[in-house]
Amino acid sequence: MPLGSFASVGFDSKRQRALPIPKASANMKTFTPDSSIASDVIPSANYGERNKGRLPDMIVLHYTGMPDVEGAIAQLCTAGTDVSAHYIVLEDGRIVQCVPEAKRAWHAGVASWAGEEDINSCSIGVEIVNRGHDWGYPEFPLRQIAAVIALCRGIMLRRKVPSHRVLAHSDVAPSRKRDPGEKFPWHSLANSGVGHWVQPAPIVRGEALRLGTISDDVSSLQQALAKYGYSVPVNGKYDGSTMEVVTAFQRHFRPVRVDGVADHSTLTTLQSLLASLSADTKAAATG
Ligand SMILES: [Zn+2]
Repeated sequence: MPLGSFASVGFDSKRQRALPIPKASANMKTFTPDSSIASDVIPSANYGERNKGRLPDMIVLHYTGMPDVEGAIAQLCTAGTDVSAHYIVLEDGRIVQCVPEAKRAWHAGVASWAGEEDINSCSIGVEIVNRGHDWGYPEFPLRQIAAVIALCRGIMLRRKVPSHRVLAHSDVAPSRKRDPGEKFPWHSLANSGVGHWVQPAPIVRGEALRLGTISDDVSSLQQALAKYGYSVPVNGKYDGSTMEVVTAFQRHFRPVRVDGVADHSTLTTLQSLLASLSADTKAAATG
């Protein structure tokens, strides 16, 4: 039986490019996709059990960051690479599932969010096919984004993932990762109910906190970032790791300028997010 036998529903297979299925995956046991809009299953060899049966309540979005889709699928599915993701979203909007949601895929690496370090155990990993910063970083096609939105909406409903736990790989690993990057249209996702977003505050001239600043204002910034979930030291020093976290914050929430400088717009956007987060939490507690 060919893999991808689920694929016949919903699209014209003659017009689609065949999926590059790694040889090893063709011999692996397939499974029923968790998402009804996943058109194909390419089983990955790389996964394990979630720690202590932790149920996933987070979605981590990635880009593949490789020059071609064939290489990306091989990387995520072939034994020995030690990386995988639950889903791959192709540029044409097709969704491939590689690891069952119940299992722990290996996508986040060394990471942290809201005090939790085993991000692979608490999350669903979604790889979005895009060459990434090292290979020209093209725009994400609309139909690919529509597929990401539909996929995430389903996961959020099934797994009760709150909006503020739909995150970028760069949010949970700011010192190592840039994906899915500042071209990723988080505002479009939020318009469809996926992810937490407020309109970024406009950029204005004025004072800013930057690398080397030591002050109480830096402590306040660090506290606010930590309260939102970022792993950042609270020591009043605008050091290298603080700058990396501010950069990750900007890639996600104030993408028009990603420079690691905490200007007025960055600080105001962060405060607005925190305010809307506590409003959301109160609504959830009473709702
Ligand atoms: Zn990633």
